[in-house]
Amino acid sequence: MANHCPTAFDESLISGYLDGELTQAAEQKVRIHLEDCVQCRTLIEDLRSIREAAMSTEFSKPDDTQWDERPRGGASLVARGAGWILIAVWAVVVGVYALWEFFTMPASPIERLLVVGGLTALALLFVSVLLDRIKTARTDPYREVEK
Ligand SMILES: [Zn+2]
Repeated sequence: MANHCPTAFDESLISGYLDGELTQAAEQKVRIHLEDCVQCRTLIEDLRSIREAAMSTEFSKPDDTQWDERPRGGASLVARGAGWILIAVWAVVVGVYALWEFFTMPASPIERLLVVGGLTALALLFVSVLLDRIKTARTDPYREVEK
């Protein structure tokens, strides 16, 4: 977030002011500046709400599930889904590109066999992981509860 303070007031003073880390003289300096600078008042409000948001996330985080990679809440479920869709699209694009390269390049039958074998193995691994994921997502009993 950009601070468009006309006097280029020191941002670290403002954040120190929020944290109550300043000397009395510095605190006074900030207070006086804030009185006639709307940009820095906006900045301090922004910083304050960011801090409050950070604090409340910290307090509501359950410790015992910290390392659980299961997504909690709608946003992370959407992000997870989008991630898998992107991976699928990426795999298809790479696969198509590789095949196109493969059929347009001059290669001996053994080279072709090696490439096809490798790609098939990768594709099978990918599909098996994907199917596993889908199965886990469907049978996960906590998925709906934690929303
Ligand atoms: Zn200012």
